[in-house]
Amino acid sequence: MVPVAEKGSKKSNDDVGESQIRLYSGMAFTKQDKIWMQRALNLARKGSGYVSPNPMVGCVIVSVDGDIIGEGFHERFGKEHAEVNAVNSVDDKSKLTKATVYVTLEPCSHHGKTPPCTEILGELKPARVVVAMKDPNPKVNGKGIAYLKEKGIRVETGLLKEKAVELNRFFLHHLEYGRPFLTLKIAQTADGYIAAPNGDSKWITSHKSRELVHRWRASYDAVMVGRNTVETDNPTLTVRHIEGRQPVRIVIDGPYGLSKDLNLFSDQYEEKTIIITHNREQAESDADPMLKLMKTNYFRGKILVVDRHEGHTNLKTAMHTLGDEGITSVLVEGGQALSTALLKQRLVDQLELFIAPKLLGGGTRSLLGLNINRMEDILPFHSFEWNRVGDDMLLTAKI
Ligand SMILES: [Zn+2]
Repeated sequence: MVPVAEKGSKKSNDDVGESQIRLYSGMAFTKQDKIWMQRALNLARKGSGYVSPNPMVGCVIVSVDGDIIGEGFHERFGKEHAEVNAVNSVDDKSKLTKATVYVTLEPCSHHGKTPPCTEILGELKPARVVVAMKDPNPKVNGKGIAYLKEKGIRVETGLLKEKAVELNRFFLHHLEYGRPFLTLKIAQTADGYIAAPNGDSKWITSHKSRELVHRWRASYDAVMVGRNTVETDNPTLTVRHIEGRQPVRIVIDGPYGLSKDLNLFSDQYEEKTIIITHNREQAESDADPMLKLMKTNYFRGKILVVDRHEGHTNLKTAMHTLGDEGITSVLVEGGQALSTALLKQRLVDQLELFIAPKLLGGGTRSLLGLNINRMEDILPFHSFEWNRVGDDMLLTAKI
């Protein structure tokens, strides 16, 4: 039986976290402070999918009378930061000196693609700057807050910190581990199959579930599949049911023996396709002719060659290579071999498991063998949540 509406430990952790922040900082944020910061967080989220590998940031400026006089968010990678957009939106700049600036991430203090926001704020001298969380990027990491304080501005940090951390979990994960945040999506029948015995996998889950997956595609930097899925399903991995930006598409263990006519290698997003593979033989001279052909000839995407692990592309190295490419998040969409290998190597950060109210009784199982023989070795979820999507149940779990 499928347990319903059961919650993991996530919610209670959040509650504890917030009260601790208040306790340690000794600052009491008002209800109104929270409302403004929540607004800044909502604004920040509008940059989802467009600012990576930068973090999403939102900013709200409130006058001494309690009115919003400016707001903005980081809209596109390489474009103005949230604070700059918010300041630029203020009509009467004289009101800035007594204003409070709410910003979801510590203002930057380094010269990047744009001048540092701390210098801009330092000159405008608002009365108070409220920051949801410190920027752990070594280039900032408290220096932005220190600079503002030196300029005589009152700075308070930690308001809605847990929400700010959750908002930028991809950015923070990439910064900390040097590899993308990896979510494994599985869409299976109630008895655990992802395809019928004839290989057909369309469609196990409801339209609502597939729509949700398309929304995820638009917010992750990349979607990833294994070579078997490319061969069997010939997917496009595009964003279709909703409006959103097209993520990078990654094929693991291609292109050996795969046709150049497959959608991922030939459609309008060919340039957004990355093949991560290894040389079949150690010696370069023995490298697969298909790989050589793709490298030199018709393929307009990117080919990254990493080392081998048990005869396949080394997934750990592959993840770090993607991290180096600036990819902060990956949504894995099958199939069985890749999903199993990622779980075995403990590379999955989050599982999104759709369970459809259908039976197949045979076919391709979602997973095949995790090298677990005893209940003592079972793979537990740190926290999880059950939700209903259309006719399906969705288990979201942190691993
Ligand atoms: Zn900035």
